[in-house]
Amino acid sequence: MVIARSRGTTEFPAQVQLVLAANPCPCASPAGDQHCTCAPAVRRRYQAKLSGPLLDRIDIRLALAPLSAAQLTTSTEPATSSAQIAARVAQARAAAARRWSADGWRLNAEVPGPVLRRAPWRLPPGDTADLRESLDKGLLSARGFDRVLRLAWTISDLDGRDRPGRAEVSEAIQLRMGESHAR
Ligand SMILES: [Zn+2]
Repeated sequence: MVIARSRGTTEFPAQVQLVLAANPCPCASPAGDQHCTCAPAVRRRYQAKLSGPLLDRIDIRLALAPLSAAQLTTSTEPATSSAQIAARVAQARAAAARRWSADGWRLNAEVPGPVLRRAPWRLPPGDTADLRESLDKGLLSARGFDRVLRLAWTISDLDGRDRPGRAEVSEAIQLRMGESHAR
């Protein structure tokens, strides 16, 4: 991590994965829920507590639906076990490491944006059309653009694909914009 201030720049060795959780509003009703009792201004002020520059560094924004009583009281095995998910993640990380090892990186998160935006890693224009449109409309920052690209590569690695296509880019945009709900 590099901290730049007027009197100098210092580099701190750090590698973190930041996970944040928050209620959608002060009354803590589910997002878009009809039972929310907050005035719109109160809701806005609450959500503004997380600053834009901070949120711009969050790659995945996922809304969690509340559990129903039925879900809480019936115990069913999850469709995918933690061990299966761990194996898939290990496979995806290995694929990323193989791809980037010649350049000295191991993870998609370590690859600089410009590298992903130029040959040979640049994706065909047809596959990034939605992404470029989001940038042009001001829905995404330049930093967000690169972060969506990295996320699309990770989704592609998790699916065992060679490179992300339009579907993976689109999924990454949805995760980035907070339009995704946990299944
Ligand atoms: Zn509320």
